Amino acid sequence: MVNLYDLSLQDLEALVTSLGDKRFRAKQIHRWLYDAGVTSIEEMTDLPKGLRERLMEQATLGTMTVATEQVSQDGTVKRLYKLHDGKLIESVLMPYRTQRRTACISSQAGCAMGCVFCATGQMGFDRQLTATEIFEQAQRYSVMLKERGERLSNVVLMGMGEPFHNYDAVLEAIRRMMSDLGIGARHITVSTVGLAPKIRRFADEGLQVTLAISLHAADDAERSALMPVNRRWDLQELIDACRYYVEKTGRRISFEWALIAGKNDSEEEARRLGKLLKGLSCHVNLIPLNPTAGYEGEPTAMPDAERFVEVLGRYGVPATVRVRRGIDIDAGCGQLKSKNARRARTQG
Ligand code: SAH
Ligand code: SF4
Repeated sequence: MVNLYDLSLQDLEALVTSLGDKRFRAKQIHRWLYDAGVTSIEEMTDLPKGLRERLMEQATLGTMTVATEQVSQDGTVKRLYKLHDGKLIESVLMPYRTQRRTACISSQAGCAMGCVFCATGQMGFDRQLTATEIFEQAQRYSVMLKERGERLSNVVLMGMGEPFHNYDAVLEAIRRMMSDLGIGARHITVSTVGLAPKIRRFADEGLQVTLAISLHAADDAERSALMPVNRRWDLQELIDACRYYVEKTGRRISFEWALIAGKNDSEEEARRLGKLLKGLSCHVNLIPLNPTAGYEGEPTAMPDAERFVEVLGRYGVPATVRVRRGIDIDAGCGQLKSKNARRARTQG
């Protein structure tokens, strides 16, 4: 069985001619897949019945099924997908008051990076996702939105997994979101834990993708305690790679900072961060920690978060405190799956 989402237009042409039909049928199929967003081959009504039947014998549409879907009061949709081998991954759709519709998708089943505060990190690594499995998460939301007369405008790779630990598949998926879903590079964000050599490689790809770096601490010992990857590439190497990204692409970098009460939210820490980022073209997103089962930290209270922003401002470093979306449905990194696993364990 071949998955139609795996095939480029050229591959589709090869498939239809091998099934004894004309090449232009491939364009029709491509339109059904990415413009109309059908969910079955039967719905491709302008294809001859014979071709549809032969396609159904040899091809499938998609590689994953929706295991659970939850809709939050703020309209956030959270899906847990079951992959062909039973692995589970999450993807979230966030609507805004504007026309912005952002999908937050996964790049791996689990994650090997072991950040202590992260639900996915606490689970460990399952396996890499294929480019199609990454792409398909965005494609599914794109279809859902089209049915409502809306359009998927942004994609962030901030779900489960470390995108640069699955570099080639992620890059291929990004290229397909651009070509097949019409999402501009500037509207795609890759978030990384800080694999410095991959940041440099990414800078050399010549794409205008937004890069987000998960920083969370401005001191090496502290960052290593939260994020083991810092022992391999320390802050100096990371920030050097970020400077290279900015020079090469002309893009501003986003830094992610989960505010943990009493841990990384002091004025002193804000000053350290201000010094570290001073002069770099960037923006800091401060996200009060989402509590997880495997980590004792608590989110920083709003007044402390605002003071942090103010201190960063003194160094000319722009920062925003982000509200958490879909909080009533655990729409945080790895949280739905970990809840599911806990439930399964207590039931089993
Ligand atoms: N692996 C990538 C992308 C996925 S995680 C990365 O780490 O950047 C997406 C973001 O969620 C990262 O910035 C990560 O640090 C953050 N995050 C993980 N667990 C969190 C939690 N419990 N509370 C707040 N932010 C969290
Ligand atoms: Fe992996 Fe990102 Fe979670 Fe760290 S924060 S464990 S890199 S998913």
